[in-house]
Amino acid sequence: MRIPKSVKVGGVTYGVSIIESCPTCTDCGGVINTEDSTIAIKQVGQQRMEHVLLHEIVHALYKHLGYDEHDEKLIDGLAAALHAVIVDNPGMFESASAPETAIKTKKKKAKGAKNGN
Ligand SMILES: [Zn+2]
Repeated sequence: MRIPKSVKVGGVTYGVSIIESCPTCTDCGGVINTEDSTIAIKQVGQQRMEHVLLHEIVHALYKHLGYDEHDEKLIDGLAAALHAVIVDNPGMFESASAPETAIKTKKKKAKGAKNGN
């Protein structure tokens, strides 16, 4: 997983930046600002930054769904679960037109079956 320069959530494009330290606190890994549509992630290890990005994306999803109260424990659990799915299924989120997709593979097998392969 990579940290993109921007991520679109619910029709809103959030600019993503990596920062050395949070200007508002010392113990957070990142912060989302839904007013100016930005996500800042503290520069730490790659996997931790990925988790923090997903944490902030779940905040954006909550905002998109109209929730003003965010349960940090639930959000962090969802972020960890999403991160595990993404990491454990590499390539799953690539475009369906990519040659490595399951759809393309099935078509090739079907053609091969017709030819007796
Ligand atoms: Zn949070």
